[in-house]
Amino acid sequence: MGTTICHDKGLSALSAYTKGCRCDICTTAKIKYEAMRKAKKNEEEKAKRKLVKKTRPLDHDTMTISEYKKHREETEVKRQFN
Ligand SMILES: [Zn+2]
Repeated sequence: MGTTICHDKGLSALSAYTKGCRCDICTTAKIKYEAMRKAKKNEEEKAKRKLVKKTRPLDHDTMTISEYKKHREETEVKRQFN
């Protein structure tokens, strides 16, 4: 095991990994870090998707009944012409 030189310099496992150290400690730290980053990203994506889902029905609700009727009539007319 001659790959722990980085640790002698007081580097964290992650920093040591980026400097090229591939000992068990560093690779484990890197894997854990990547998994954590992925999980965080997934959480962010989930939160974004939730936000979109939440705002969509709200947008639909902002359409008033008269507006909705007008919209329906227009689509009906279009359908008749086709
Ligand atoms: Zn290392």
